[in-house]
Amino acid sequence: MIRCTSARVDLGAIRKNFAAIGAYVAAEAERNRAAGALPATPPGVIGVVKANAYGHGAVPVARALVESGATWLAVADIEEGIELRDSGIRGRILIFGALSVSDVAGVFTHDLTPTLSSPAAARALATAAAARGVRLTCHLKVDTGLHRLGFRDDNLRRSLPEVLASPSLDIEGLSTHFATADDAEDPLFETQRTRFDEAVATVRTLGADVRMVHAANSAACLRDSRTWHHYIRPGLLLYGLVPPPMATTVPLTPAMTLASRVVAVKGIRRGERIGYGGRHVAAAPMTIAVVPAGYADGLDRRLEGRGAALVRGARAPIVGAVSMDMLTVDVTHIDGVSTGDEVVFLGTQGDASWQTIDAREMAAWIGTIPYEIVCRLGARVERRYA
Ligand SMILES: *Cc1c(COP(=O)(O)O)cnc(C)c1O
Repeated sequence: MIRCTSARVDLGAIRKNFAAIGAYVAAEAERNRAAGALPATPPGVIGVVKANAYGHGAVPVARALVESGATWLAVADIEEGIELRDSGIRGRILIFGALSVSDVAGVFTHDLTPTLSSPAAARALATAAAARGVRLTCHLKVDTGLHRLGFRDDNLRRSLPEVLASPSLDIEGLSTHFATADDAEDPLFETQRTRFDEAVATVRTLGADVRMVHAANSAACLRDSRTWHHYIRPGLLLYGLVPPPMATTVPLTPAMTLASRVVAVKGIRRGERIGYGGRHVAAAPMTIAVVPAGYADGLDRRLEGRGAALVRGARAPIVGAVSMDMLTVDVTHIDGVSTGDEVVFLGTQGDASWQTIDAREMAAWIGTIPYEIVCRLGARVERRYA
């Protein structure tokens, strides 16, 4: 049995998005080559599937990406990496997160590639690798201005020699992460980009045999090919969503549809109040539809009075409180709504392609970002794969 509130994840869309990103960077690299600019060769793509593949389901998405030719995937922590390996996912898996308070055994037992993000973490991994008598292949993150994880770019000459001297660590990759790639006005992006270029040169001067340089999240992928280096690291784009406020001509399809069904339709008299708190007062007689989807399914309470869903190809405003398991939509203006009718929260209804709600629009209604919309889809929402 599947609850009527369920998500459909279009793995074909994810495959197509992966291919479209590959085609885009290939075309841009070719344009660069013709213009004598760099990079003139297209980067590889690390498929970012952390946080349960942004709510889409880590294992099915990882499989789809590997089938599409992805040789690298990335996750947030060792536990997410182990989940993929236990499901038979091969290929390289990069761990983004700090491992300083983790049980690092999984890195060795499940063939995961850690990111060294501080001298202390590097020491801990070197010790663990030495105890197992292996040389651990890892990537090193440089903090160029996000000021979260990473070796400070202005301190590499002091912090790196110890790491590079360790016979137990092989620094294969070098990375950084941008703070403001989605903001065309913010000069920090350009500062980080040039700091990273300098860091790459410094690390090589210090004798590291770095073969894989990567920096670009989705926004940087779209914004500046000089951030691409050997690999790009898109997450959001793979799921068919563009980081706001950016726009792109890359043909992407949102992969997630979230839908439910009307379980009751009811008439409300003028002056009656709807839902917890009675905050919506009917100014005139109205018809509402009750939908068995609420904040436990990932629908934010702030959608009350701001959001809408698609019913019979029209927009039905969310009125009254979004409760744990239910919400109500105003269908006064929509003819013939009845129990069993489909309600679409994310996605397109039927062939009415002009009637689409995507995670970016829902995010704008409640003042958040599309990342949060898809990631917080409730655990009880069954994902169906197509
Ligand atoms: C999440 C993440 C990405 C992907 O970011 P998007 O904006 O979804 O493309 C890339 N790199 C790192 C280090 C990340 O944590």
